[in-house]
Parts: sequence; C-alpha cells; structure tokens
Amino acid sequence: MKSYFFIVNPVAGGGKAKSQVHRIEENFRNSGAEYRVYQTTGPRDAIEAAARAAEEGFDVVVAAGGDGTVNEVLNGLVGSKAALASLHGGKGNDFATAVCMPRDIDQACRALLEGEIRPIDLGKVMDRYFINSVGVGFDAAVALRVNRGVRLFKGVSAYIYAFFETLLSYKWIEMEVDLGSGPISTTPVLVAVGIGQAYGGGMRIVPDAIQDDGLFDVCVFETMPRLALIYHFPKVFGGRLKHLEQAKMFRTSEVKLHLSAVRPLHMEGEILFGDRMHFTIEPKGMRVLFGS
Ligand SMILES: [Mg+2]
Repeated sequence: MKSYFFIVNPVAGGGKAKSQVHRIEENFRNSGAEYRVYQTTGPRDAIEAAARAAEEGFDVVVAAGGDGTVNEVLNGLVGSKAALASLHGGKGNDFATAVCMPRDIDQACRALLEGEIRPIDLGKVMDRYFINSVGVGFDAAVALRVNRGVRLFKGVSAYIYAFFETLLSYKWIEMEVDLGSGPISTTPVLVAVGIGQAYGGGMRIVPDAIQDDGLFDVCVFETMPRLALIYHFPKVFGGRLKHLEQAKMFRTSEVKLHLSAVRPLHMEGEILFGDRMHFTIEPKGMRVLFGS
C-alpha cells in the first residue's frame, strides 16, 4: 500500500483546498494507508515541504490546491522517487484535469488510493520545472494583471476584465522563435509550450498535446487585429483556436525564444520574467498519479 503526503495550500481557491481537509482525513483514516496532512504557510513553502516528504520516503505527494500549488510541489519533487498527484483545490486546476482526477473530493480520494502511477514528460525553462503548459506574450500579460489583483472582480470575471484591459494597452513583442531548425523573427500574439493541453483554467491552447511523447506541443499564434482577437479568442476553451490560419502548431523537443525586451512568462500560476527563454524536455521525467 502506498503512503501519501498532502500539501494543503489554505488560500488556494479562496479556501477551497482547506475546506476539503476533513473529507481527506475521513477517507484516509479508515483506508489503512499511511498519510500525513501539512498546511503551507506562504509562497515557496510547498517546494520545501514536498522535498522533505520525498526525503522521508512518502510514495505520493498530493498538491491540495490549484495549479500554482502543483508547480511548487513539482519543483520540490524533481529528482526524487515520489510521485506527484493533485486535487481540484484551486481556481485553475488544469493539471488535475490532465491527470483525470475526479472533481468530487470523495471520488478523488478513492482515485488516489487506487490510481495508477506512470511517468510523463517534464519541462524546464529559466531554471524552473513545469508539468503542464506555459505561455509567453499576450496571455502572460493577462495572467500578470490577474495575479497583481483586479479590483472589483473575482474568478472568471477578473480574467475577462484583465483580458480587455490588457488588450487596450498591450504592445506586441518582437521575438526570435527557434523550434530546432533555426530562428525565425516574428511578432506573435503569444507562444504557448505544452506538455498538457490546457492552461489558465481550461484554455485548451495545444489541444492535441500528448503528455508522454517526449515532445512539446507548441502554438505560435500570429498577430491579428484586436477586434478579431476578441471574436476568436473564446474558441480556445473548446480547443478550436488551432483551426485559425494564425495558429501555427508544432511538435518539438526544444524551444528557444529571444524576446526584444524582458517580458512575463506564465507557468502554472507562477509568473517569471525574462528575455531569453530556453525550453527543454526530459522525456518521462516525472512520475504522476492518474485518477483513472
Ligand atoms: Mg507531448
């Protein structure tokens, strides 16, 4: 029987993860499995807690939070034997969705106890690991605005408000994109690099991505008039943005972006800044627990 270490982010999803703790306790108390629950105390705490849990020999470390918590737990686990798992405990739960974890907490606990562990690809950029999807450009500017706080609005409406506010002020950024066959100069709306298919809470930007094929799915979304962007962008939720001629889709094991200025990159709830972004992939580099 596997042992489990839960890393609960008490502020994730406005307290959603914290409210699930008593269900976790009840499900695991009678399961016979060894388990422990830990609540984080601030940013980056989950990285250290995950590393300690792996060192102690726990088989599965569960991110009880959203994608931001998953990313911290992942970065604490890289190089260890422990497997990564995630609950739907935050605002954005794209990784939990990608590994087929049920939304219902009781069903999720059962899935944790019975689920299968298998390795998927591990991405790295600017010294930080990711397990799902990353974006550079307009999408990152929207994420940055949401992260800094949108007054008056919460949840999805905060994203919609930030989308329009960013659209009015955003300056398209020139960059060189090298997908392994030499750099090409372009001024795209965004570049997305994915192991999983979605980011930003269900935006399926690379809807054909396969988690364990050793390759990134890349979307270079070429520029279009702002009004056209308002019309077309919602298609991303259904994975239909890829049908536009502006959406150039690629598969590659290496991506280099050279930006003409320092700009944000959004990675699973984290924002990093840089102008040289070199993405590498470690095929099947991370063991992950699948819900079904
Ligand atoms: Mg892939």
